[in-house]
Amino acid sequence: MLDDLNRRLAAVQRLNVPAEAVYGRARSEGGTVLSPARGGTLHCPVCDGRFRKFLPFGLNGRRNARCPGCGSLERHRFLWLLLRDDYKLLRRRARVLHVAPEPAIRDALAANRAIRYVSVDLFDPTADRAADLAALPFPSGAFDTVICSHVLEHVADDRAAMAELHRVLARGGRAAIMVPLDLTRAATFEDPTIDTAAGRNAAFGHPYHVRICGADYGDRLRSAGFAVRQVRSNMLSAHYRRIWRINRTLVFDCRK
Ligand SMILES: [Zn+2]
Repeated sequence: MLDDLNRRLAAVQRLNVPAEAVYGRARSEGGTVLSPARGGTLHCPVCDGRFRKFLPFGLNGRRNARCPGCGSLERHRFLWLLLRDDYKLLRRRARVLHVAPEPAIRDALAANRAIRYVSVDLFDPTADRAADLAALPFPSGAFDTVICSHVLEHVADDRAAMAELHRVLARGGRAAIMVPLDLTRAATFEDPTIDTAAGRNAAFGHPYHVRICGADYGDRLRSAGFAVRQVRSNMLSAHYRRIWRINRTLVFDCRK
């Protein structure tokens, strides 16, 4: 989520743009179709494209980050592998709730007709439903799978959001949840009195993050009622991390 926003970080800080405008614009720029130079040793598991190199991405132009075929980033590709191979999402009927949908993953799931797919986003007009995570417009137990990546660090009352994600999940269902983590911090850092874009950027490293999630963040998900397993990308061999271009990352696999 919000990868395009990161590229506009300086402008956002300078102007203190309202969150609605920033998030809406980030969304409308999603899913850019690029002209891939196909053929090569790198492989994107999301769109199954092969490339000589991926595109640079981020403020520092991180090399070989973005898939030229589908726009996926490193962490999207790891999340996709978990959904495909561990959740086996493409091999069964499932009701899927995708929060603040990444276009690459949305498109890959939408291509599977067995999946009943619903996306939700507070600001993105292309999402199926506009809703606040803390008050989801779905009955309890409505979904088998929830995907929520790089969202909770933007949500002031993330415990209320977690409770809602838990409520809409069916018993036995699983939520794949990612947040940017600073595992050198034992405790999550947050301060609700910091409420300007410039202040948040200084404190949390991003104008619309409201916390830095630390090593205790899995416990917060457990407090919402989930059984939590941490799935780390270093479970993959170095060879596959290299050809899929996957960085050091972690998914909270949350079971109800
Ligand atoms: Zn791709």
